[in-house]
Amino acid sequence: MTDPSMPTTVAPQVLLVNHLKTLKLPTFAREYEKVGFECAHEDIDYARYLLRLCELECIDRERRNTERRIRLAKFPATKSLYTFDFAAISVLNKSLVLELMRCEWIDKHENVIALGSSGVGKTHTALALGLAACQKGMSVALKTAAALVHELMEARDEKRLRVLQKQLTNVKLLIIDELGYVPFTAVGAELLFEVFSRRYEHAATLVTSNLPFDEWTSVLGSERLTGALLDRLTHHVHILEMNGESYRLATSKERQKQTAKNKPIEEEEANPI
Ligand code: ADP
Ligand code: MG
Repeated sequence: MTDPSMPTTVAPQVLLVNHLKTLKLPTFAREYEKVGFECAHEDIDYARYLLRLCELECIDRERRNTERRIRLAKFPATKSLYTFDFAAISVLNKSLVLELMRCEWIDKHENVIALGSSGVGKTHTALALGLAACQKGMSVALKTAAALVHELMEARDEKRLRVLQKQLTNVKLLIIDELGYVPFTAVGAELLFEVFSRRYEHAATLVTSNLPFDEWTSVLGSERLTGALLDRLTHHVHILEMNGESYRLATSKERQKQTAKNKPIEEEEANPI
């Protein structure tokens, strides 16, 4: 392992750090001295000293891998269930969401569809499930339906559709957000259908939509294609029913109420007499 071009007088610490970098053990390199002092102080033997370093490296590696998966997933925001108020959407099956957070459905190549009007927390829930999957070591990709179709069309025009299809088939969890806002051309709808078709019983897909199933034809164009797509998507599916009042609207109404309540106090403060 020793680089013959290195002068022999190089301090062992420098060589050690070099080798640890080559072996991709950055935490070892960063911590070996400090942990060494601690172990000497606590009279801990060499095997336990190495064990401590290995454990630190494993924990750090897992954290770095999770961060990489989150980066690759391209989430538009980081959301988790810690900030999700289930009381605001009583129609949503909380125990099902908590069960889905365990990510077993992803291992079983099942699907999730979150249905509901705008602002009810569909994307928030999808992001929380995506984050949980990243933390469990699974690869995730999130795209809006419109962006995905655009990407597929572009790849087809540039003759790299196969590569993109392969990537889309192999990601463990594909989240397709906002199906229903933008209608697709016939070619776009067919390309999207192919994504679902390739993933069927091979990998998990999560779809969010503002449209009930009987209106999906309005974005996919053909009834035949919509039927075939729904047939695959809903074979092994968990449905998150999320129709309710928009959280955005509810919070902005609440804010307005608070402002109206606080106004006389502010006025009083401004004019104390
Ligand atoms: P949708 O995708 O259904 O249109 P979003 O998930 O984008 O709605 O939610 C809109 C905003 O409201 C986001 O900032 C989201 O974090 C927040 N939000 C929605 N529902 C809840 C909830 N039940 N608890 C906390 N925040 C929520
Ligand atoms: Mg959304």
